[in-house]
Amino acid sequence: MPDETAPRRPLLMIPGPVEVSERVLRAAAGPPPGHLAPDLIADFGAALGDMRRAWLAGADAAPFAVPGGGTLAMESAVTNLVDPGERAVLVDTGHFGRRMGEMLRRRGAEVVVVEAPPGEAPAPEEVAEALDRAASGGEVAALFATHVDTSTGVRLDPRPLAALAAERGVLSVFDGVCATAGERFAMEAWGADVYLTASQKALGLPAGLALWVASPRAMEARERLSTPPPLTLDWHAWRPVMEAYEAGRGAYFSTPPTTLIRALAAGLAELLAAADDPGEAMEAAFARHERAAHALRAAWAALGLGLVPVRPELAANTLSALRCAPGRAGEIVQAAARRGVAIAGGLHPDLADRSFRVGHMGVVTTRPEALRKTVEAVAAAVCDEESEQARVAVAAFESAWG
Ligand code: PMP
Repeated sequence: MPDETAPRRPLLMIPGPVEVSERVLRAAAGPPPGHLAPDLIADFGAALGDMRRAWLAGADAAPFAVPGGGTLAMESAVTNLVDPGERAVLVDTGHFGRRMGEMLRRRGAEVVVVEAPPGEAPAPEEVAEALDRAASGGEVAALFATHVDTSTGVRLDPRPLAALAAERGVLSVFDGVCATAGERFAMEAWGADVYLTASQKALGLPAGLALWVASPRAMEARERLSTPPPLTLDWHAWRPVMEAYEAGRGAYFSTPPTTLIRALAAGLAELLAAADDPGEAMEAAFARHERAAHALRAAWAALGLGLVPVRPELAANTLSALRCAPGRAGEIVQAAARRGVAIAGGLHPDLADRSFRVGHMGVVTTRPEALRKTVEAVAAAVCDEESEQARVAVAAFESAWG
């Protein structure tokens, strides 16, 4: 019997964790498998191969699936690629860029930061200039940038940045936590060296996995490191485990989250099943996110809500960071929650009480009824539910969805 007194679970439209598909839900249900069970070994191996495909990475790239989250994936990249005293260039487009900067400084790196006010992103020319400035003082280990910064909703274009780094023999590392599988990224074609993420965002899985793919150049850089990373983050410790599972054998360094590995295998298989060719399957995923974002932005415009990103091309397809009057963000989030939709408040310190965020990642991009419900909840939170403006916003969503 359902418990009528239990509060209804809200529709999760925060920027992660997100709603998951039926297939992922089924994979994550049931008794937890052992880490050396044959079906788990098969799932783990398949998931690692599928990560390479979903990242559009080369056959020689190294996938990792490790217990943790995005923060752990970031720290793993920092500590495996940069030695204390080395230089790094950081493109800072918000809260998570700053976090990467903090990690680099704790590692003892000399960090050259290229930043922009909240809602903006530095131009590639500024990044080129920073790379050259950093190189004038000595060799630069890596360029770090956030594909989509979840605190500002700003998406930068990794392609020219990866090219600028590669031209200079510098590794490029992209935090794709709020982007991977939702925003266009082609690791091999663009020459990026590390693309890292976490399970709870556009990949549409429960939280708990740190995921990244490293290029052969990045793996070689780990070989040359003088100061090893903390053991739990060490690519040397994890890589043989990943290789063993891909080869159909179990291995142990630290117990993998077996239930989540099953969910990962199911989620990636579902993602890639959209087409025979991984490029086409991923393009379908990127296009789904684009369509959802486009339709929601039409609704936000009808509600008079401005985006934090200052130019349309900077606005992410995975979440909307929306401006509101100072002090109103908390009320808006609560009003949406009363209508059964969980959205998030502001995160960037300069925008905390004057912005709120709506995630639109993963399976909800295939569920227009969930997106419409979100528009209705936000409309009810920012204007009168029965108002003409709320009706116009829903109509704008529907017409833009097509
Ligand atoms: N980077 C970005 C862009 C993020 O959005 C997040 C999480 N919101 C993180 C890193 C950190 O991920 P986690 O919370 O899984 O540690």
